[in-house]
Amino acid sequence: MSQTIEGARFWAIALGILSIAYLSQLTLQSAPRQLTVAIFNTCLVFGHALWLIGAWHFVHTPPSTKKILILIAPVLVMSLFFTFILPDRPSRLLVIGIWLLLVRAHYGWVLWQHAKHDKNEYIAVKITVAVVLLELVLTSIYTLYGAFGALPSIGEQFSWVGGYTWLVALIGIVAGIPLLMLLSAGRFVRKLEYAAHHDELTDLLNRRGLSRYLGNIMPLSQRKCHSLSVIMIDVDHFKKINDQFGHQTGDIILTHIGNELKATMRASDLVVRWGGEEFCIVLFDTPPAHTLQLSEKIRSSFSQSIEKIKPEIGEVTLSAGIAYTDSVSQQAFEASQIHADKALYQAKNNGRNRSEVYHIEDT
Ligand code: GH3
Ligand code: MG
Ligand code: MG
Repeated sequence: MSQTIEGARFWAIALGILSIAYLSQLTLQSAPRQLTVAIFNTCLVFGHALWLIGAWHFVHTPPSTKKILILIAPVLVMSLFFTFILPDRPSRLLVIGIWLLLVRAHYGWVLWQHAKHDKNEYIAVKITVAVVLLELVLTSIYTLYGAFGALPSIGEQFSWVGGYTWLVALIGIVAGIPLLMLLSAGRFVRKLEYAAHHDELTDLLNRRGLSRYLGNIMPLSQRKCHSLSVIMIDVDHFKKINDQFGHQTGDIILTHIGNELKATMRASDLVVRWGGEEFCIVLFDTPPAHTLQLSEKIRSSFSQSIEKIKPEIGEVTLSAGIAYTDSVSQQAFEASQIHADKALYQAKNNGRNRSEVYHIEDT
């Protein structure tokens, strides 16, 4: 999560530095030419380097210090060399132009590759890459003109190459960076939402997540499905295991249950860490006999696999309570969950390590 914020932080600083670059050209017109050139180019290099570094962070590949040095130092040294030691405008424009082309092309490529894997961010990234492509075309022409000495200095006569390149560069900065920061903020909110609706240990839905999920899918489920089953699962004598082998071992058991449930259940089933060592499964259109079979399968496969992972604990068993209803609604779920809990209680009373199905006469 911090990497996403880091990306935004680099972009914010890049925006500030690039603003200084362009503002310096407007405000320092009476300063010595070499000085304004040096300020502009240094800001340009740092601004675009930070912009790229932000993108690297955004796609979760933060650069090493060495990589940052290679990115910034050579171009900065050459730019200052061609400004103060051997003033040569075409060489300076060529060096910075080629560097900018490489940096912007790489930046566009990094975002493009990322967009392929993240459909949420696809459109925003596509717009950003389109602006970068336009920048690349204009920067290429600008660099060629500059290298052949055909580019008038700023403030001399108007040059369409210079004018449009600057315009697109400014649009890229003014629109591009805030767009990226919105992307970053959007991703951050999605991560927060995910964290709020999932359990950290098992990565299953938590109760809040289940409520939201049910709220979202209920209108469709009501139309398409005709029944709903709930399985409540609880680890037997979990407190003893914690006391004897430590909380870490307890956590390994809970994580393992989460993995087993994810592997066993269909994508349409909802699997929830209900709290502590209790899990809740919601299934649609699954007959009671089938639900019972499934519950038994989960229990036996868990007991067998945990024995292989943690043989020192000995046998670890699960109890389960099952309830079935032939109506599909939020209320039907809530009632079934209470019924499944009662059946679970019965499973505990009947000696644990078993599944019990709720019957109306149990109340
Ligand atoms: P029963 O067979 O009747 O279910 O007995 P039990 O010991 O499993 O049930 P009890 O409710 O007495 O104890 C549940 C224990 O689960 C107590 C609590 O410390 C432990 N627990 C709850 N959440 C976690 C967790 O996230 N990690 C670990 N390691 N333990 C947890
Ligand atoms: Mg228990
Ligand atoms: Mg319990």
